[in-house]
Amino acid sequence: MRWSNYYLMTAREAPRDAEVVSHRLMARAGLVRRLAAGIYTMQPAGWRTMRKLMAIVRREMERAGAVELSMPAIQPAELWEESGRWFKYGAELLRMEDRHGRRFCFGPTHEEVITDLVRRDVKSYRQMPLNLFQIQTKFRDEIRPRFGLMRGREFIMKDAYSFDADEEGLDRSYQAMYGAYSRIFEACGLEYSVVEADQGAIGGSSSHEFMVLADTGESAVASCAACGYGANVERAEIGALPQPEAAGAEGDGPRRVSTPGATTVAEVAGMLEVDRALVVKTLIYETDDGLAAVAIRGDREVNEVKLLNVLGGLGLRLASAEQVAAATGGPLGFSGPVGLSPEVRLVVDESARQLAGFVCGANAGDEHLVSVHWDRDVASARPLEWVDVMTAEASDPCPRCSGGELRISRGIEVGHIFKLGTAYSESMNCTFTDEAGRLRPAEMGCYGLGIGRTAAAAIEQGHDDGGIVWPVPLSPFTVVLSLLDPGDDAVRSAADGLYEELEAKLAPGGFDVLYDDRRERPGVKFKDADLVGFPVRVVVGGRSLRAGGAEVSNRQDGEREVVPLDGVSDVVLRRLLPGVF
Ligand code: ATP
Ligand code: MG
Repeated sequence: MRWSNYYLMTAREAPRDAEVVSHRLMARAGLVRRLAAGIYTMQPAGWRTMRKLMAIVRREMERAGAVELSMPAIQPAELWEESGRWFKYGAELLRMEDRHGRRFCFGPTHEEVITDLVRRDVKSYRQMPLNLFQIQTKFRDEIRPRFGLMRGREFIMKDAYSFDADEEGLDRSYQAMYGAYSRIFEACGLEYSVVEADQGAIGGSSSHEFMVLADTGESAVASCAACGYGANVERAEIGALPQPEAAGAEGDGPRRVSTPGATTVAEVAGMLEVDRALVVKTLIYETDDGLAAVAIRGDREVNEVKLLNVLGGLGLRLASAEQVAAATGGPLGFSGPVGLSPEVRLVVDESARQLAGFVCGANAGDEHLVSVHWDRDVASARPLEWVDVMTAEASDPCPRCSGGELRISRGIEVGHIFKLGTAYSESMNCTFTDEAGRLRPAEMGCYGLGIGRTAAAAIEQGHDDGGIVWPVPLSPFTVVLSLLDPGDDAVRSAADGLYEELEAKLAPGGFDVLYDDRRERPGVKFKDADLVGFPVRVVVGGRSLRAGGAEVSNRQDGEREVVPLDGVSDVVLRRLLPGVF
């Protein structure tokens, strides 16, 4: 491709709303252009990267036995009512009506449509296993679209859905996708890790996320270097924490003490001169089923994703001061588990179980209780629900091995695989006849991979001050050939000849060349080549010809050499495929 004919315009400035480096560089390199919040045009060079990524995804999905199809973006409301998600999905679902008043949505995902398809075609266990995938545009009306393609509203996803006759089959389908995803991110040249993920409301039996590690990632990941445990912080478990010493024997409590103005754990612990871990903090939440109180060790934070899984329903939020007063009889900041109204559901984090003689709010203004014991003072009034709702923190003990410590890092979730089980097949009646002639719901899995988000993640991982440093497989073009003296006929004809030869020699390996034959100054060409991030650059100019040919260099490390013109394509191939040439 000749740059003079191509549509690739770079810019010096990034848009003002571009907060992360991938967004800034994608905009400056002329890869994407914002049309509206979270909605982008893929300009030709950006689309080329997506096409290369989609080719890798297709290849590995097909190798794993998945079959491509294409489903509509617009989906009828009835299907979503059948699965129960028309009401559950919330404001992220873009709903619309046609001219006849029929209700539709723009698909944020395709479980309903695929289940409807398969239930009509598949009648017998003999027709399974099946895995169907598509690469298609989704719409999710995200509250905070940001970071360019990383969290768009309209975005391209590869989504796949597996159907099996039994759980063992689902295990095999899931493992096949686990392997395919690993090969995809490997083939893209990305550094990634696989972690256990929250299963959310659907509550399938297994779920993993593929994370590209990067400081700008929106996800926090807990991992143990000693044993390899890794989980999204939304669900990460924690090993046994060291316990604070018990304060006082069971005989002497509980006692009411005055704690004027002390509403935070730090203030209470300071005033009463106790370890923060010995203060039990009680938070009141509003849930779909009324108010709930969660008690946790004072030195730790509640994980609201875990809490929602425990409490059920669609959402939760901290109760207002009025709600707290109505439920506990005391002001905000002085709540505690003792004497709490039985109408408030109480759950207690496991971390607080070993505490003896602890401190907690007295459900009265400016007062706390000391020397409190769970069995004597709380459980005697109501059965206790022990739960895990604690947020993992750096240096926490690993839940899987002894001696290991958790590390917290940030990651970009590029892929998500999920065992759905029979949630959709039951609600939507996707059944088949098994070997014994019984009617059973299919065991389903679903597998998503963000195309734009993966491309953005590659840039978060590969860039420097000059611009993008693409991994070879994802660069819009593998090689940029820069013609430095376009007015000099001899130079131009040497570069034209080299361009033809490079195209011919590189194409069989799947590599491509952008020939920068524009009438621009050398400085502009060098800056643009660095900004767009082509892995290999070949420069032909009067000076390079006098030095013996063309100059070949790598974007990654800048390593350069002058090569006779007839040896350039071999040298380029050697750089692209070290070990082969
Ligand atoms: P997130 O927690 O980041 O919102 P999700 O759990 O909603 O992601 P899934 O429903 O599992 O995401 O979608 C599968 C994949 O689609 C994700 O792993 C991600 O790569 C991509 N994806 C999801 N939402 C977006 C978005 N708003 N913009 C770009 N890609 C997205
Ligand atoms: Mg989401």
